Amino acid sequence: MAERSQTAPEAGNDTGNEDAIGGNVSKYIALPNGYSGQPKKGHLTFDACFESGNLGRVDQVSEFEYDLFIRPDTCNPRFRVWFNFTVENVKESQRVIFNIVNFSKTKSLYRDGMAPMVKSTSRPKWQRLPPKNVYYYRCPDHRKNYVMSFAFCFDREDDIYQFAYCYPYTYTRFQHYLDSLQKRNMDYFFREQLGQSVQQRQLDLLTITSPENLREGTEKKVIFITGRVHPGETPSSFVCQGIIDFLVSQHPIARVLREHLVFKIAPMLNPDGVYLGNYRCSLMGFDLNRHWLDPSPWAHPTLHGVKQLIIKMYNDPKTSLEFYIDIHAHSTMMNGFMYGNIFEDEERFQRQSIFPKLLCQNAEDFSYTSTSFNRDAVKAGTGRRFLGGLLDHTSYCYTLEVSFYSYIIGGTTAAVPYTEEAYMKLGRNVARTFLDYYRLNPLVDRMTVPMPRLRKENPPPYKHPSLRGSTNNVPSSKGDKKSSLNHKDPSTPF
Ligand SMILES: [Zn+2]
Repeated sequence: MAERSQTAPEAGNDTGNEDAIGGNVSKYIALPNGYSGQPKKGHLTFDACFESGNLGRVDQVSEFEYDLFIRPDTCNPRFRVWFNFTVENVKESQRVIFNIVNFSKTKSLYRDGMAPMVKSTSRPKWQRLPPKNVYYYRCPDHRKNYVMSFAFCFDREDDIYQFAYCYPYTYTRFQHYLDSLQKRNMDYFFREQLGQSVQQRQLDLLTITSPENLREGTEKKVIFITGRVHPGETPSSFVCQGIIDFLVSQHPIARVLREHLVFKIAPMLNPDGVYLGNYRCSLMGFDLNRHWLDPSPWAHPTLHGVKQLIIKMYNDPKTSLEFYIDIHAHSTMMNGFMYGNIFEDEERFQRQSIFPKLLCQNAEDFSYTSTSFNRDAVKAGTGRRFLGGLLDHTSYCYTLEVSFYSYIIGGTTAAVPYTEEAYMKLGRNVARTFLDYYRLNPLVDRMTVPMPRLRKENPPPYKHPSLRGSTNNVPSSKGDKKSSLNHKDPSTPF
């Protein structure tokens, strides 16, 4: 979640755990109280010493019940949300109740039917537990903390079971993904290392565009996208991968987008936090999305690197930085939605709403109703707010949020839980919305390849923005953009 006020309970409360939790449990065997013999089958073994793992402590309450403690973010005990651990040495038909007892938040999608993820050795695809087995309540036994309890029955003795807050997406997975893209030798895909994290992990920067657009002196319209500044917000990576997969594809829309736009994507801004299994912070305990105003090259090197690049592009007269989108996941809201900025200039404010409205038409899971615009002081250090203040009046900066849990399709009330594929689909729809925004559709229609529409139904009930001034059809270049609108006539329905 990118956006929350300092006063909201989910901003992270006190340390919350009675005893300090130093690290992840490592093959910890939970033995019954007073038991001193050799561990037997059914004495559960917990482990979180792996990439993106998180489980700090296990207390066995009874033969059937275990209190589990999330390990707080490194160097910042206020954040305790992400968990990801394995359980093995189970007995067939062994029934247990796991209580996650030290969440740092009170509000949670667990109230709305969210359930933890599970997979096992013989069933390696992640599944959500049935919501009927999940309980979220204020517990008098744990300082009145909110506790999430779930019942589970182990069914295969030899399986190792893994439980997580949401679909994991590790740094290693991300590196393998980028390696596989590089191996395809696409002349419109470029990968470079923009910097390194404190623990020397790569800050990757991707450029996706036709090579002609990168020639010296060519005017460029740049779309800048970042993800995973908050490491526990794994849906961010699936959305980002959806964007990338679409943009490098042979889909006619992707080809037109590459011809006209330059996509710069830094999909993982906080690789250390991702690796460590943190929820919100970097290795040193910083919420990087509060340090855009003055990132330090040694304390926030990845943020510093990205900011330097953005400022360089901003100062390049041949580059028009038109969009900045930072992708997050939200722990209390449904659907995908956006945060934008508030401007004194009413016209700019109205124009800012165009992209989310178009996205809402393309993506059934994206809600314009939940999209909002603000300028709270506590969000001044976010990428969206900082760059919204820096860039000129034809640039738009958004936070794209997507629910950790589900979306509700217009006209219904049923929550559809997100899958990895559904997150990626949202990414594809974000990418293709640039086609509508820049009104490049006729170019696609001219292509000989048939173009399947991904979705075009249930247009959102919104009013068209009342725009003043020119109705220039083509987005203008940097030279004249201050004097004209860069979108279509508002009287034309989308
Ligand atoms: Zn976030």
